[in-house]
Amino acid sequence: MSIEYSSETEQPLVSSVKTPADAAEVSLRPKALADYTGQEKAKQNLEVYIEAAKRRSESLDHVLLYGPPGLGKTTLAGIIANEMGVSMRVTSGPAIEKTGDLVALLTNMNPGDVLFIDEIHRLNRTVEEILYPAMEDYAIDIIIGKGPSANSIRLDLPRFTLIGATTRAGQLSSPLRDRFGVSLRLELYTTDELATIVTRSAMLLGMPIDPGGAREIASRSRGTPRIANRLLRRVRDFAQVLSDGVITGQAADEALRRLEIDFLGLDAIDRRMLTAIIRQYGGGPVGLDTLAATIGEEAVTLEDVYEPYLMQIGFLTRTPRGRCVTHLAYEHLHIAGNEQMQLEV
Ligand code: ADP
Repeated sequence: MSIEYSSETEQPLVSSVKTPADAAEVSLRPKALADYTGQEKAKQNLEVYIEAAKRRSESLDHVLLYGPPGLGKTTLAGIIANEMGVSMRVTSGPAIEKTGDLVALLTNMNPGDVLFIDEIHRLNRTVEEILYPAMEDYAIDIIIGKGPSANSIRLDLPRFTLIGATTRAGQLSSPLRDRFGVSLRLELYTTDELATIVTRSAMLLGMPIDPGGAREIASRSRGTPRIANRLLRRVRDFAQVLSDGVITGQAADEALRRLEIDFLGLDAIDRRMLTAIIRQYGGGPVGLDTLAATIGEEAVTLEDVYEPYLMQIGFLTRTPRGRCVTHLAYEHLHIAGNEQMQLEV
């Protein structure tokens, strides 16, 4: 079985990781909290924190956003800055190589501004240590000179808000994690929420869509807005040919079927992964690294991109001894439970 790769990116269509082909998504980002669909719990709390900070004319507490890629962490950071009426500077953990890079960013901010650090778990240690006093005391210590004559001077910073985003909150060191006053976990979206997002995106992109089309795309987007927006763009081409440009349920179904994305949003890699656990490891448990080597994928991709959704729909469980598939996966793949046992005999 083969899977269609988007020609520009060589990434599977259902990967939630951002690719250059997703550049257009900037125009789809909602700018106000009211336009941000779903994540009700996170939104309600944020509304209170933002309102309280504004009433006290203070900067917002530092915020940590965590959850799988493509769920709207960057979007939410931008909304927070907008709602606070301040500017946002965007960078990422791997992009800050030297302490000087971070010092330059911090010293160039205006009071109240937001500094957004994506993939904050990938900051290197020395850079991270600059952040501790910056977050806690709004100051940094700079060493001037070398050797015995070196001097440390303390530089005051404007009060700012750090918003960190990570797919792996567990990999954050505890001194860093402890310095975030607010920590919000983003959840996978429901089909209804994704249908609302798809309809809004289609409207912004000038693509005619009916409710059936929005639902079909939503239910196959693995709970992830980035994938929903990406599938929407791919489905448009098919709709042009199949239904006069209107994205109907039928056109979306036909398009996604041809792209080998099944009715639950699983692609060839999901199916390969589940089938390997069943056929080669008796349904599990199997360790992540062994599984990744078996199907020729990176362990981190399986863990960050594929597993959250497979666990959410109850196809996969993580146990201390490794990954196991559930009877739901057997049913979905049309593999009988006793078929495996027969193979083993
Ligand atoms: P992350 O930073 O978590 O990887 P992004 O913030 O870049 O995700 O979101 C990816 C895309 O999904 C954005 O273009 C945005 O348009 C869309 N999106 C994410 N969350 C929402 C939401 N709650 N409502 C509407 N669109 C969303």
